[in-house]
Amino acid sequence: MPPASGEETSNRELVSIVVPAHDEAEVLARFHERLVAALAPLPFDFEIVYVDDGSRDATLAVMEDLRGGDPRVAILELSRNFGKEVALTAGLDHARGAAAIVIDADLQDPPELIPELIGEWRAGHDIVYAKRLSRSGESLLKKATARGFYALMARIGGRVRIPADTGDFRLISRRALDALLDLREHHRIMKGLFAWVGFRQKEVGYHREARRAGRSKWNYWQLWNFSLEGITGFTIGPLKIATYVGISTAFLAFVYGIYIVVETLIWGNEVAGYPSLMVVMLILGGLQLMTIGIVGEYLGRIFNETKGRPLYLVAEYRPPEAEADPGNEAPV
Ligand code: UDP
Ligand code: MG
Repeated sequence: MPPASGEETSNRELVSIVVPAHDEAEVLARFHERLVAALAPLPFDFEIVYVDDGSRDATLAVMEDLRGGDPRVAILELSRNFGKEVALTAGLDHARGAAAIVIDADLQDPPELIPELIGEWRAGHDIVYAKRLSRSGESLLKKATARGFYALMARIGGRVRIPADTGDFRLISRRALDALLDLREHHRIMKGLFAWVGFRQKEVGYHREARRAGRSKWNYWQLWNFSLEGITGFTIGPLKIATYVGISTAFLAFVYGIYIVVETLIWGNEVAGYPSLMVVMLILGGLQLMTIGIVGEYLGRIFNETKGRPLYLVAEYRPPEAEADPGNEAPV
């Protein structure tokens, strides 16, 4: 249902819905239907920014269809697949609302929760995030690894608290969004950045559904990498671990050295030595490789950030027809 805007300018506030989608042709139409139904009773104007993150299936065509039937739909076509975090950022860059809502296209985030998110925003909160009370359709292993990740992050994340069991499904007020969009790092974990900007945050619980169609694009290797980003992006804790492990091994080696000297002085030494030497060498070698690895993780990130490339490239942006204003260039 199109909004009552069009020609007569409504003075209702604009809320942007940002939907990153990669190969979601199967669910997108159903998603749009549910989204529109959820938005219908709300006294706001909406723009729905679909981000096509380099889909190889008919996702873009489905988006075109939706845009043909609903003047509130905008399409942001990226030049290739940039990954969800960047696609999300691209969509938020193009959001013009007084608030933006980020939601997955696969119907795992229920659009029916949007009124509640908006309600909390009107009550004065800047970031209203949806917290999963349950995760149906996810394997025990995935649930366990997710729990492990959040526990680890809570331990080493320092002042930045990434709330457990939240996805990217959330509402962001304009001022929080402007702050967020200033963060242009390439290694980005959106939920970490949302937590970093602060402002008044509020959680809203919901039950996470199983994916409706298609499949999750995350495998365990990617989840592992995601966790690495989360850790190295928000804390230099591991660098300190390396320091402390180094200091304690050095100390132990020193004590052991004294022990050997004393032992030799008192009892003498038949050329034993070989096993202990090997053990010490192997342990130290392992520790050195490990610490070099940790340093490398950070160094690699510095390397990537210093290249200063844009986060993404836009193939084409088609603004919502309801708002089409030739004098008004879209932000890039
Ligand atoms: N997505 C994207 N680019 C990608 C991978 C995913 O835009 O490279 C979108 C995807 O279409 C969906 C959302 O991000 O709307 C969440 O993806 P997915 O369901 O694979 O992640 P999960 O729900 O398992 O966290
Ligand atoms: Mg999903």
